[in-house]
Amino acid sequence: MLESGAIAPESAMSRPNAPARRATMRKLRPCLFACLCLGLVCAAAPAAAQWLSRDAEAMGTTVRIALWHTDAAAGERLVDAALAELRRVGREFHPWDEGSQLARLNADAARGWQPVSAELLALLQRAHHYSELSDGAFDITFASVGRLHDYRSGVAPDEGERERARDLIDYRQIEIDADHRRVRYTREGVVADLGGIAKGHAVARAAALLRKAGVTHAEVTAGGDTHFLGDHRGRPWSVGVQHPRRRGESLALLPLIDEAISTSGDYERYFVADGVRYHHIIDPAQGRSAADLRSASVIGPDALSTDALSTSVFVLGAADGLALIETLPGYDALLVDGAGRLHYSSGLARR
Ligand code: ADP
Ligand code: MG
Repeated sequence: MLESGAIAPESAMSRPNAPARRATMRKLRPCLFACLCLGLVCAAAPAAAQWLSRDAEAMGTTVRIALWHTDAAAGERLVDAALAELRRVGREFHPWDEGSQLARLNADAARGWQPVSAELLALLQRAHHYSELSDGAFDITFASVGRLHDYRSGVAPDEGERERARDLIDYRQIEIDADHRRVRYTREGVVADLGGIAKGHAVARAAALLRKAGVTHAEVTAGGDTHFLGDHRGRPWSVGVQHPRRRGESLALLPLIDEAISTSGDYERYFVADGVRYHHIIDPAQGRSAADLRSASVIGPDALSTDALSTSVFVLGAADGLALIETLPGYDALLVDGAGRLHYSSGLARR
């Protein structure tokens, strides 16, 4: 706000005469020229670099894309493309949605060989790899049991139903013929759900898309799976690992550069009945929710592998889970056990 009396009324101001006006214009000319040049230089220079970010719903969870770009419009188009890629993967590999590739496979594969896309074939092969690596803790055929639960409405199968469904779990019943790009299930009733690996795959794909477009600093997150491209411009990205029992509270802050991190927990989709916690990560050996850990975070080079490994480690428990991570160069883990104690891999302790 102007203070009264700061500017004299125009009538009271002295007006310059014509020669004085010309002299003033002569002085101003170089100044105007300089301003014009500066304007042209500004127009030619790229727009100021900036962070662009978007939070959205996709794949049944919250997703976030953030990136650093010198051109806001081009950056927004890349955010759109990354988000579209997350949504595409979510649609194609949904286990039950009509029209998804995986739903069709689940419906038909027990009747004989079914052709699959190269992407689904590769995903099934990766899932098979993590099943072998985790000695069956990671098993996409957990779904025969998983689908009998509705965690939102508190629905679980009775013991007989659970036992019959558990008997159907075995990833070796999914036969993959890579040469002919086809798949079959060797037993009626087997169903596959890629929920333990598809979000990581989607995040990895979206991050690769951004990298290919020249983006050097970015975050792609879908639920518990994140990939960071580069650093946060001069400093590491900082990731808070969610406290498994205190919503909104972080247990630890991890500095990450050019890495992925995935967290599996018993606190996102669950209900408690008669003192038992029913949650969405199923121990294939028991046919019921894995009970050793409250959360498992795995850090590694790409989100597909950290996603599969966080689910695997969650099922394996603290001792076997950490032992697995110690065999994998470039991977680290942070676990919270049933008593709330923290367990670190040796690499994380060194970080
Ligand atoms: P989120 O999906 O919440 O990110 P996870 O990465 O741990 O958490 O994946 C949990 C999902 O993995 C479950 O919702 C289910 O779809 C799937 N899943 C559950 N148990 C297993 C298992 N033993 N092996 C493979 N996938 C599993
Ligand atoms: Mg996972």
